[in-house]
Amino acid sequence: MKNLFIVFSAFALATIIYGCSQGKYAATNKSYKKQIEGYAALLKEYPIKDSAGLPYAEEWVGTTNLSMRRPNFVIIHHTAQNSCEQTLKTFTLPRTQVSAHYVICEDGTVHHMLNDLLRAHHAGVSKWGNTTDLNSSSIGIELDNNGFEPFAEAQMKSLVILLDRLKKAYSIPTSNFIGHGDIAPTRKNDPNWRFNWKSLAEKGFGHWYDDATNVTLPVGFNHLQALRVVGFDIKDTTAAIVGFKRHWLQDTTKGLNNEQLKVLHQLSKKYQ
Ligand SMILES: [Zn+2]
Repeated sequence: MKNLFIVFSAFALATIIYGCSQGKYAATNKSYKKQIEGYAALLKEYPIKDSAGLPYAEEWVGTTNLSMRRPNFVIIHHTAQNSCEQTLKTFTLPRTQVSAHYVICEDGTVHHMLNDLLRAHHAGVSKWGNTTDLNSSSIGIELDNNGFEPFAEAQMKSLVILLDRLKKAYSIPTSNFIGHGDIAPTRKNDPNWRFNWKSLAEKGFGHWYDDATNVTLPVGFNHLQALRVVGFDIKDTTAAIVGFKRHWLQDTTKGLNNEQLKVLHQLSKKYQ
């Protein structure tokens, strides 16, 4: 009987240890790996004959000079959820079809959920300058924040370290660090107006404007053209103005007064 108890205990302990080593996300991690294997198989297909109807040469010639495509934008979000755990759950449910490369929790913990060279589903229908489908060219970073609170210091600290790494690794231009609300102003308002874009710009992530106090607006200043120069899609002008004010004036109201027009003028100069 005693022996049986020992065997049973050992079995229970082994089950617990095995369960822990598998982790809470073992099943979804398996799904990630399976998808990667599918893409790896796709990359290993040669000769390459992927376009129907083309008069392909008889002999396939592969070039010797290639590398992986690189991201050229960083899009910052707030999760609009109540905890990091909730977001991890959302991003591991196949039915949601949403994801981001990184999730940064309030305490500064970073979750790197997919390889930087893969396409995450975070931007949705979006446009910045003439670039559409930002998902294909960007890294998505989600900050755990419900949309109505300041961003935690530890979280911002991790964000800056991450941005620095991404900028260096992929030579991302300073102007290409932007928010979800910038690229989808009719649908999104994240990161919320409390986000400190100014401090990021001072570190080389995004642009800020020079003092506009003593600036005189040029005759015939076209604010829509200026918004367009910065990058906004001006199809919905009200939304573009709200987006500009949230990001560069920490203001959530509509319309532009003379002082704000001067700021926009100063800002647009940074994008010319
Ligand atoms: Zn977002």
